[in-house]
Amino acid sequence: MNVEIINVGTELLLGEIVNTNATYLQKMCKELGFNVFFQTVVGDNPQRFLDCLDIAFNRGCDCVITTGGLGPTEDDLTKELSAKYLGLEMIFDEDEAKKVNDKCCFVTQLDKVSDNNFKQAYFPKNCYVLDNPIGTANGCVMSKDKKMIVNLPGPPKEMTYVVDHQLKPYLEKYRQAKIYTYDLVTQGIGESAAATLIDDIVQSQKNISIALYASEEYVRVRLGVKAKHQSEADEFVKQTKKMIEEKL
Ligand code: ATP
Ligand code: MG
Repeated sequence: MNVEIINVGTELLLGEIVNTNATYLQKMCKELGFNVFFQTVVGDNPQRFLDCLDIAFNRGCDCVITTGGLGPTEDDLTKELSAKYLGLEMIFDEDEAKKVNDKCCFVTQLDKVSDNNFKQAYFPKNCYVLDNPIGTANGCVMSKDKKMIVNLPGPPKEMTYVVDHQLKPYLEKYRQAKIYTYDLVTQGIGESAAATLIDDIVQSQKNISIALYASEEYVRVRLGVKAKHQSEADEFVKQTKKMIEEKL
């Protein structure tokens, strides 16, 4: 499955917060064996968000996971726009409205909550609701024409909770062989020299990806391979790893 992550929030683009939601989701995808070829950050702008969805699905993505913009305010439009993109009707859910009411009353200690909160009780037709017991906005999974969109709340505490308790168990049925990585740390050799030495090995690989990462201290050679189990992955990379070690 090819997944793209879209993190929504102008504050991300302004450099006010670090995009920790993206890393968390990338790790989840890696664990489930999903490909993540692109990750996008977009501001709270309806048209640009719709453009991001369109670009993602047009370049072969099966599932877009979004974070942010599920709250009650006017610029929280991720769920509505996702449904609009797929052509799904938004339906008011009485049970969800009651939950929103109870959660908001509990948090505010008021008897009545403002109407805009009930925006969080509308969900796309036939979606799977991702329950968020620690916040007011639930997430959801909606699908149409082999396109899946997952909406998750923005606050990291809520997002990670919903991923661990709701989304990951839901996505288990799509689990694929996962990517195992191996780091070879070098000493006393620069990036370009290392790249030249192992170029023929890199070029001849079909199923193992090899990348070099230079830091101030050392150059790291990373091997990545897809396998169902650790032992299978170890066996796949064994020969290539040995050749690289010998060359370097
Ligand atoms: P709310 O109901 O709080 O409005 P929401 O789902 O609409 O939730 P946002 O308004 O987009 O989410 O984000 C709420 C807060 O969560 C942000 O102000 C920010 O502090 C944090 N946040 C949002 N997105 C991210 C992200 N990608 N990485 C880290 N923190 C984030
Ligand atoms: Mg919000």
